Amino acid sequence: MGSLDIMQKLEVLADAAKYDASCASSGTARRNSAGGKGIGSTEGMGICHAYAPDGRCISLLKILLTNHCVFDCHYCINRKSSNVRRARFTPQEVVDLTLSFYRRNYIEGLFLSSGIVKSSNHTMEQLVEVARILREEHDFRGYIHLKTIPDADSELIHQAGLYADRVSINVELPTEAGLTRLAPDKDARRIEGAMGVMKAAIAEAKDEKKRFKHAPKFAPAGQSTQMIVGADAANDAQIVGKASKLYEAFGIRRVYYSAFSPIPDASAVLPLKRPPLVREHRLYQSDWLMRFYGFAPGEVMQATGADGMLPLDIDPKLAWALKFRERFPVDVNRSSREMLLRVPGLGVRAVDHVLASRRHRRLRLGDIARLTVSIAKVRPFIVAADWRPTLLTDRADLRTLLAPRAEQLELFAP
Ligand code: SF4
Repeated sequence: MGSLDIMQKLEVLADAAKYDASCASSGTARRNSAGGKGIGSTEGMGICHAYAPDGRCISLLKILLTNHCVFDCHYCINRKSSNVRRARFTPQEVVDLTLSFYRRNYIEGLFLSSGIVKSSNHTMEQLVEVARILREEHDFRGYIHLKTIPDADSELIHQAGLYADRVSINVELPTEAGLTRLAPDKDARRIEGAMGVMKAAIAEAKDEKKRFKHAPKFAPAGQSTQMIVGADAANDAQIVGKASKLYEAFGIRRVYYSAFSPIPDASAVLPLKRPPLVREHRLYQSDWLMRFYGFAPGEVMQATGADGMLPLDIDPKLAWALKFRERFPVDVNRSSREMLLRVPGLGVRAVDHVLASRRHRRLRLGDIARLTVSIAKVRPFIVAADWRPTLLTDRADLRTLLAPRAEQLELFAP
């Protein structure tokens, strides 16, 4: 690989990093301005977007330190047995690239992951070294997201947290059986052990910060993880259950779901087809229900069918409401915030607006219509000053009435 120049390495290692969904700018239509046609491109690799702790969307240089790997995870294009072109950066090369992109205003930070070379400790040392040089030798104040190798020594994992804004440890698959089958070199207990080390270190650093103003920052944007969906037989109920366990047990800031995508030169144990993209979308919606709408994991699981899968044609909040119609309609002028958040089509901001407005006057259906993109979706589930749905909520064909047409994908207001 010594013959590759820095741009060739960038091409290989930015492309290899695109399979990691933990910083997600994927899912858009393909457009490319190569050849002087138009301006801008969605096909180029290397820059992704993430949200900084203050809520800003920032651009990150997203690359691997190397795509050499001694592990053989079946779902990964960089696995040992894969026949891909390989490359490897030195820590100094990554530092130089980051600084040069940063100075040109292309990026505001770095998302760095790596295949495992020599050993987990050696790889983690190299990742930490990149962050150390950036922070200590160049006083780099930009955002750094470091992938963390679960098998590495806890001292190295700790160092990663001292330099990075966010760290992530991929749980990879929702079940232990899936991990054993598809990532035979990985161990669920070691992955969760590393998450536990990180959680304790983040909590300790927060505590120190309260007591000593100059205590060092430690992963101020917390830790995140990624779960691959559709590579094994796990159903949505199992995925939701796993995600909620991760949020509770390890204080994970964000679980990313990545629909398994067949890779070139794929292992024979993998499915031939990727799951429908909308499945990934429904899982993100269910994640929002748990994080922002007060749904318990068990309630989200109740939205799944007999096969444990969330419906693809309607969002999980509507699926739950249709299953528990006896809880509706809810009175927008009297009901609790908790119940209003369960009304399909009412988002968190709409509910807060309802709560603030009803202190001054009784709300009518028209007031609610101004807060939602689809009053038709909301109507069967609410009572307002001038509206009561009578038999609408109980109609046998309500699902058909409310399901969007097959090609429509609802992006907002689960
Ligand atoms: S450890 Fe597994 S997932 Fe990570 S780069 Fe190596 S083969 Fe791929």
